[in-house]
Amino acid sequence: MKVLLVDDSVTMRRIQKTQITSLGITDIIEAGDGEDALGKLQSNMPIDLVLLDWNMPVMDGLTFLKKVRQDPAYKGVKIIMCTSESEKSRVVEALKSGANNYIVKPFTPDALKEKIGI
Ligand SMILES: [Mg+2]
Repeated sequence: MKVLLVDDSVTMRRIQKTQITSLGITDIIEAGDGEDALGKLQSNMPIDLVLLDWNMPVMDGLTFLKKVRQDPAYKGVKIIMCTSESEKSRVVEALKSGANNYIVKPFTPDALKEKIGI
């Protein structure tokens, strides 16, 4: 499984990467904002899963999500929104825009496992 981990916080990416790796997933690509993520998605396909932060400079997570869902080339890419506790009310908007699921961060390996169904 290849994962694209998108978050503008280097610290958060490091934490999440450790959690993902502990599930045996080692093919992890990182991006620091939505625009960076679009480029990396395009050049690293097939990507199975995107773990997507909301608030990021340049291009936020929701904008990235909408752009990806407009492109049939990425139909098979699963997208999970990574929210903070305070952002949970925005989840409906993300699901309507094509996110497959959401997870509250920092997530545990078990919580992630459940959300991605592995
Ligand atoms: Mg952020």
